[in-house]
Amino acid sequence: MDKIKTEILVIGGGASGLSAGISATRNGAKVIIVDREEKLGGILKQCIHNGFGLKYYKKEMTGPEYANNLIVEAKSLNIPILMQTSVTKVTKMQNGSFKVKVVSPNGLKEIIAKAVILAMGCRERTAASISLGGTRPVGVISAGSAQKMINVYGQMIGKNVVIVGSGDVGLIMARRLYFEGANVIGVYEINSIPSGLNRNIVQCLNDYNIPLHLSETVVEVLGKDRVSGVVVAKVNPDFSFDLKTRRVIPCDTILLSVGLVPETDLVSNDIVINKLTSGAVVDDNYQTSTSGLFSCGNVLHVHDIVDDVTMESIDAGKCAALFVKNKLTEGKKFKVLTGNLVRYSVPSYAEGGQGFLNVKFRVSGVKKDCFITARLADGTVIAKRPAKIVLPAQMEQVVIDKSKIVGDLTISVEDN
Ligand SMILES: Cc1cc2nc3c(=O)[nH]c(=O)nc-3n(C[C@H](O)[C@H](O)[C@H](O)COP(=O)(O)OP(=O)(O)OC[C@H]3O[C@@H](n4cnc5c(N)ncnc54)[C@H](O)[C@@H]3O)c2cc1C
Repeated sequence: MDKIKTEILVIGGGASGLSAGISATRNGAKVIIVDREEKLGGILKQCIHNGFGLKYYKKEMTGPEYANNLIVEAKSLNIPILMQTSVTKVTKMQNGSFKVKVVSPNGLKEIIAKAVILAMGCRERTAASISLGGTRPVGVISAGSAQKMINVYGQMIGKNVVIVGSGDVGLIMARRLYFEGANVIGVYEINSIPSGLNRNIVQCLNDYNIPLHLSETVVEVLGKDRVSGVVVAKVNPDFSFDLKTRRVIPCDTILLSVGLVPETDLVSNDIVINKLTSGAVVDDNYQTSTSGLFSCGNVLHVHDIVDDVTMESIDAGKCAALFVKNKLTEGKKFKVLTGNLVRYSVPSYAEGGQGFLNVKFRVSGVKKDCFITARLADGTVIAKRPAKIVLPAQMEQVVIDKSKIVGDLTISVEDN
């Protein structure tokens, strides 16, 4: 078996892995990036719509263009990249380094690294994960798989399509299917508010008169060999189905856009996982509960826009580089807790000192004209900013001056 040594191994060559690898290299570390696919770029490769890069590159790009910028940069830094290389096991050794087993077309390899950056992205929830009732004919497909079929392989998936869930991938695919000549019958969302970004509701549904049915969902799939229809019903506030409202909608395809889950299986038995994000619990250095194991991008928590993935991963890459050079300062860590209306926050631990801490979080409900605050346990406000509206669909951020972090802090959404 081939043995390779490096300072940092980055698992994943999407936006996150490329950004982290570039940053770690620029900060003086010896880096290897591995990815199980044939080509770099991760999910960006299949996102041929525009809307990427406005925040980081200050320019509107498609997904493949955004990926290409990072690929060109990584190649200009001569970062060794192993493609078609799947990581199957990560083990922390007694000397503190990691032994990483990989499978590639050239056989099994073992990579020894002082630090590992997890950048494996996320996967889609399936029909099984939402307990979709009815039969299992051909024609039930997740939104991301449909996107790959159409945009990468040039294969159409159906003619009359019902979309279950209003996640961003499903909204983008509603428009894509419309462009390809499909009849997009409607989007059925179990919640009373959409799961996707408002800009995608407007640009992908409203602009093409595709109806969005809130508090209504598919309760049964119909069809033997191919999908022949769905039964939809209204959903009560307690999430039970109002079966009196059942109606059959003929269709040949059901597209699922019902959530994304960080792909942490590789390490989920070895690190502390945040039950709300399904990603790792990390500190302000993006270090997991295992020293030397870092996490960033969609494997840490699902992001709305790739620019935020890049910026987070640049920070994680820098911290990993400092770690392997024994220069990562680690003082007393305080807890970052969730307060009023805040569902989760990342990171979970932070220390005081110089610079700024960017806490990312999602809310559990809609609130207009409010304030986002960070308070110490005695009530002292150490950061506060106004927000016109906060929505569960939108990742929020609050920036805190680290010199003010002298104890545990709580992130909340407040009236004033
Ligand atoms: C449909 C869709 C539309 C989007 N639209 C926008 C938009 O308009 N604007 C915007 O800014 N953002 C958008 N985003 C979000 C953005 O594209 C993603 O957040 C970002 O690209 C995620 O990057 P990542 O590197 O974390 O994950 P990924 O891109 O998923 O990369 C993870 C990589 O890890 C590899 N990997 C996983 N496990 C292993 C393993 N065991 N061994 C080796 N390799 C492994 C995978 O092969 C993959 O290449 C969209 C996302 C989707 C899905």
